[in-house]
Amino acid sequence: MNFLEERIVKDGIVKEGNVLKVDSFLNHQMDVALMDQIGEEFYKRFKNKKVTKILTIEASGIAIACSVARCFGVPMVFAKKSKSVNIDGDVFVAEVESFTHKNKNNVIVSKRFLSADDHVLIVDDFLANGCALQGLISIVESAGATVAGLGIAIEKGFQIGGRVIRNLGYHLESLAIVDSMDAATGSVEFREQK
Ligand code: 5GP
Repeated sequence: MNFLEERIVKDGIVKEGNVLKVDSFLNHQMDVALMDQIGEEFYKRFKNKKVTKILTIEASGIAIACSVARCFGVPMVFAKKSKSVNIDGDVFVAEVESFTHKNKNNVIVSKRFLSADDHVLIVDDFLANGCALQGLISIVESAGATVAGLGIAIEKGFQIGGRVIRNLGYHLESLAIVDSMDAATGSVEFREQK
């Protein structure tokens, strides 16, 4: 097991409805040293790619994205959730359905912060059905920029997102892929990775 898988086994809580709670170390209370380790691991996996910007979605992707951005020495941009229907022309917009909250949000990125010259590494804490990543990919493509790759802390491999994104031909790296989990026993099984 790698460092993140070990931490999930130690402190993650499996909830009903295919939800893995990691709020004691990843997305509510945050273990900042773990964030640094995650950033370094993504740097190792993507350092051969040209990367000019890190993109994530608020809120829980931000800490991981900051850590990755520090390793690459590039800016981090986060897509903001917007309630407004009257979105002005100065932003790129995508509609994203939330797996955890079951609602839809427009997410926006100012046109000032993404351009056709950018090579963007997209990162997030979780990958479930892939709506968040597809929204971020669509924003990068609206800007005419290039998706350099996608880095996910925890992929739930029994949901379709990972397969969809890989089938589209993107380079997706997930530090931990959960193949199955059981709310009754609290057990978590990980996919073997190289
Ligand atoms: P997707 O768009 O891939 O369906 O879901 C990804 C988003 O939903 C992530 O940004 C994450 O915030 C949230 N999410 C999905 N599954 C889980 C989960 O099992 N636990 C937690 N804590 N968040 C999740």
